[in-house]
Amino acid sequence: MLDSLKGSLQAALDKLRGAAAVNDKLIDETVKQIEKALLLADVSLPLVASLSSQIREKAKTEEAPPGYTKKDVVLKLIYDELVNLLGGSSPRIPKPDKNQEHKVMLIGIEGSGKTTTAGKLALYYKKAGYSIGLISLDNYRLGAAEQLRQLADKVGVPFYADPSLPTRKAFEEGLKQLRERGAKLIIIDTAGRHKDEEGLMQEMGELNNFIHPDHVMLVIDANLGQSASSQAAAFSSKVKVGSVVITKLDGSGKGGGALSAVAYLKVPVSFIGVGEGLDDIEEFDASSFVSRLLGMGDLRSLIMAMEAAEKEQEESLERMASGRMTLDDMLSQIRAFRKMGPLSSVLEKLPIGGGLKIDQLTEEQGEERMKKWEVIIQSMNKKERSDPSILDSSRIRRIAKGSGTRPEDVKDMIRQYELLKKTMKNVRRNKRLANLLGG
Ligand code: GDP
Ligand code: MG
Repeated sequence: MLDSLKGSLQAALDKLRGAAAVNDKLIDETVKQIEKALLLADVSLPLVASLSSQIREKAKTEEAPPGYTKKDVVLKLIYDELVNLLGGSSPRIPKPDKNQEHKVMLIGIEGSGKTTTAGKLALYYKKAGYSIGLISLDNYRLGAAEQLRQLADKVGVPFYADPSLPTRKAFEEGLKQLRERGAKLIIIDTAGRHKDEEGLMQEMGELNNFIHPDHVMLVIDANLGQSASSQAAAFSSKVKVGSVVITKLDGSGKGGGALSAVAYLKVPVSFIGVGEGLDDIEEFDASSFVSRLLGMGDLRSLIMAMEAAEKEQEESLERMASGRMTLDDMLSQIRAFRKMGPLSSVLEKLPIGGGLKIDQLTEEQGEERMKKWEVIIQSMNKKERSDPSILDSSRIRRIAKGSGTRPEDVKDMIRQYELLKKTMKNVRRNKRLANLLGG
């Protein structure tokens, strides 16, 4: 599937992943490579430009949550922007009520895979428990109705076509007969050929007016190049497109034309076609599609873990800023702090000056002390961590013993905690501090 695009995107990411440290130059190079990969795959220029400027912009400002690196942030950005481009991460399969009539009309140019898709959808929804009816309204191409009839037979669902009737009559008769046979989900295949494009579009408009489809699927071939967007635009000027089906993603198509059309129309992809067989249809899910494209099965779990860490960090900052800081919060801040580099440079960046002065310690001593606090906090139980005011001398002795420190160390940590808590309360909602601590 989209092998060449996949190959070049993965090459861009491999370099990023292999690098020891991420700097602006590397980000820039990666983004350039991604741009090139997308353009070569026929993704339209304006889309590529906006995607890469988003990545560049955000890569500069977004900070890594605790436990993650800038590299992770950049990977996530690339992933997020691509998922966004493809309509976001929730799957968009039409799931109509099984007991109500629902008409799905397939449109697209000739050869895009409408008839094949009609058969695939019939099987897919039949398996899901729907009562299907198939109508062919293609009386341009000889054998088009016959093609769908055979598919209907294979799937075992009612079918109607009568190429000798005018389209409207054929539709009305078909609907009547299929209703009598109990069909609820009616899938309507249309012709994709006309002597000229304007004629085809006009016909689509007319079909739309008498069919009143509940959902229109625009079928786009993954092999279609840059012209896909303008075709999609022409269709959507006549018909409200509900979703796009991208076919032939199993082939060697570059795919970018179809992907651009999707981004351009701002309608979701519902299904993708991945072969000629009736089974070769998949529900489209932008996140897993992009993970596959980027060759990172593990990317999704990284993203989810990062999002959780970000959320936790935010909540912790919230609590601190409102003066409800716990020792768990302090622990997570200490960890974030220690990742930010030498203590002195961290303290320099803090706008609160004296408040957080950790005595007159040398750098090393400071680091030592933070490490100690970490073990001390880890030796406390949940209750103590969320409400340090219960720490009496016997608890303190127990904690010191458990963490291999002295009771004075525990008391020192508590003093710093109190100080930090007070300070945080004073700088409530100080955005700059929040950003620094979030880093
Ligand atoms: P229509 O003119 O839009 O109705 O297109 P058809 O359904 O007749 O399909 C045109 C050709 O594309 C046929 O040879 C199909 O077998 C083939 N085709 C359709 N969908 C796919 C797909 O997802 N993968 C592959 N490899 N071929 C497909
Ligand atoms: Mg057809």
